[in-house]
Amino acid sequence: MTWEHPTTEFGATAQVQAECDCPHPKKCKLNGCRHAPYDTVVFLDVDGVLNKAPDYAVRIEGQRSCFLVNQRLVDRFIKVLEETGARVVLSSSWRVMRGGREFIEHVGIPIQDVTDNKGKKRGEEIQRWLDAHPEVVRYAIVDDDGDMLDHQLPHFVLTEFETGLTKQAAYRLTYKLGGEIPLGVSR
Ligand SMILES: [Mg+2]
Repeated sequence: MTWEHPTTEFGATAQVQAECDCPHPKKCKLNGCRHAPYDTVVFLDVDGVLNKAPDYAVRIEGQRSCFLVNQRLVDRFIKVLEETGARVVLSSSWRVMRGGREFIEHVGIPIQDVTDNKGKKRGEEIQRWLDAHPEVVRYAIVDDDGDMLDHQLPHFVLTEFETGLTKQAAYRLTYKLGGEIPLGVSR
């Protein structure tokens, strides 16, 4: 199945695969395949993480798509994934927007799963996902909103809509996901 939607940055039409075409979905060990075993996940918000307020300010008027990401911030997040092997669970409201998940995958971030949309707080939705996946032993949350549950706070990296995922925030996220960070960087 393919989706068609315009990208915001380039105005072109993107076609992306909505289904994984892995040939071994039950026992795949390919790095990056969403079917391979995993024990580390990161819950990803998009607005204020993969984009920032100034991106919206320079947005070209009349663009049809509601999707906007900043490639530099996307690349920074991908580096976190590469250094930690974490899988991505989309907790952003983009998960309920038609084509939102596919757009994120199109820019290079594979999505393992999404949280449900039944919580008053995002932390509740994340907790339900965690409760249903006892195989996960390590997780982190990155979001520019703070509506997480108290016990999730040690796993939480708060960003700001003005800046998105800064280098510092990316280091903290890497650390919480069990990755190496440079000496002297605060955790
Ligand atoms: Mg946000």
